[in-house]
Amino acid sequence: MSDAETLFERIIAGEIPADVVYEDDKTFAFRDINPQAKVHVLVVPKKRFRNVGELAASDPELLSAVVLSARKVAELEGIAESGYRVVFNTDGDAGQTVFHVHAHVLGGEQLGLFGR
Ligand code: C5P
Repeated sequence: MSDAETLFERIIAGEIPADVVYEDDKTFAFRDINPQAKVHVLVVPKKRFRNVGELAASDPELLSAVVLSARKVAELEGIAESGYRVVFNTDGDAGQTVFHVHAHVLGGEQLGLFGR
């Protein structure tokens, strides 16, 4: 297993420091180290799947838990009313670098359009 695959498991285990925003029995949320918006939090299921498609196919309840945690993060960060974006990058062209599925929760300002 590569470092990129184990990275989030080590963050969840507390072996690598992170700015934790929210945690429950199934999910873990922490601030992205390289934020792309005023609020940029990653929500990670504690059980590892490669991407959101594999998560949806294998454990739809856990996918639901990730999305509900994203909503909880938005509430905690005060952006639930103003609006926020939830993004799952999947493989090469999307720029996925960590192959432990994670939702990017972005907001706190007017976000740009999708694409390049
Ligand atoms: O979707 P993608 O796989 O590209 O997202 C990985 C994210 O993990 C990046 O936004 C990166 O900044 C973040 N990251 C982090 N802490 C690390 C390593 C990566 O927040 N130690």
